[in-house]
Amino acid sequence: GWVPADQALTPFGPIAEPNPWGSIGDLRLLPDTATEARVDLWDEVSPLHFFLCDAANTDESPWDSCPRTFLKDALARLERETGLRLVASFEQEFVLLGPTLETGPGFSFEAQRLVEPFGPLVMAALGQAGIEPETFLPEYGEGQFEIPCAPAEGLVAADRAAATREVVREVARRLGHRASFAPMTDPEGVGNGVHVHMSFVDQEGHPVSYDPEGPGGLSATAARFAAGILEHLPALCAFTAPSVVSYLRLGPHHWSAGFGYVGERDREATIRIPPLAKGNPARQFNLEFRAADAAACPHLALAVLVLAGLRGIKEDLPEPHLMERDLSKLDEEERGRLGIRPLPGSLEAALDALESDAVVRSWFSQDLLDCYLSVKRTEISFLEGVEPKEACERYLRVY
Ligand code: GLU
Ligand code: MG
Repeated sequence: GWVPADQALTPFGPIAEPNPWGSIGDLRLLPDTATEARVDLWDEVSPLHFFLCDAANTDESPWDSCPRTFLKDALARLERETGLRLVASFEQEFVLLGPTLETGPGFSFEAQRLVEPFGPLVMAALGQAGIEPETFLPEYGEGQFEIPCAPAEGLVAADRAAATREVVREVARRLGHRASFAPMTDPEGVGNGVHVHMSFVDQEGHPVSYDPEGPGGLSATAARFAAGILEHLPALCAFTAPSVVSYLRLGPHHWSAGFGYVGERDREATIRIPPLAKGNPARQFNLEFRAADAAACPHLALAVLVLAGLRGIKEDLPEPHLMERDLSKLDEEERGRLGIRPLPGSLEAALDALESDAVVRSWFSQDLLDCYLSVKRTEISFLEGVEPKEACERYLRVY
């Protein structure tokens, strides 16, 4: 059993008021057997064993405020209206913390060895959970690591993003450490990003995102998909970068996402075209959305990206120009002329953008939208007057 108002739980604990349901109603959590994760690596504790669920009405019909159902519907709509299926992968960064933990310099071999046996254990655990991790590597920030996993169908990719966090936290716990996916752990520090890689296949499973003649290798479909995301970017950030401290991470010179544009191999582009290795370019080619972090529900975040991209395809939005320079060196007017969009400067600004974007609002049931806005505004109110350092610490404890 589950309670509708639980959808209004804020990250800091209390249920947001008002919310559309109050004390009324009941739901069922229906486990999806395809999501089973079972990690059995330790003698002293029970296996980590869980399923992801859809929140459904008591008669098991879909509940119109379930984020996982919302993503399923978005992916079905993409397929129905374009014949395309989404392939995706979430690349997630996190920090390890703990009284006995020694951390090494950014990107270093030492950083990797100091946390032994975390690396091999986390790879084994993710493998057992069916998540197909690709690598475990030390990142730039202090105690920061990253785990990308193999691309999969859209829903599976979002499920894996959610499951990865649980498995990583468990492995850290078993070693007496803590793993945190908080977007920023210190206002002056390095952010934990979640980069969402997306490409498309047609009904025969052929990749359709790549065209060697297109700008940066973008097919017309992929370019319009990117245009749709950029068109609605400020409102999308309310879902992809949904914490107060998410906005300490976004912006120029953080290697996260500096402005709203598409760039080839540019780590400050909101949509980056990653490099191609040897082998079939069409199979590798993908768009990397970088203005996301792990405060976001992966299902909601992927759903809004898909729906915005779908709109770009359906409306034939003009293909975005590829940028190739440090855009923070231009002034606002020049950036405006080039069609570069600023990212929202705060969660409040992103929520305002959501409220003024009728297209994005129209994708949601009234209840889910009202609930989301109330949760996020309540979250902001909890941090009113709190210094950024303390705000980071509070999120560090939660995520
Ligand atoms: N830590 C960066 C972020 O917050 C990403 C660095 C990278 O892997 O490109 O998104
Ligand atoms: Mg990284």
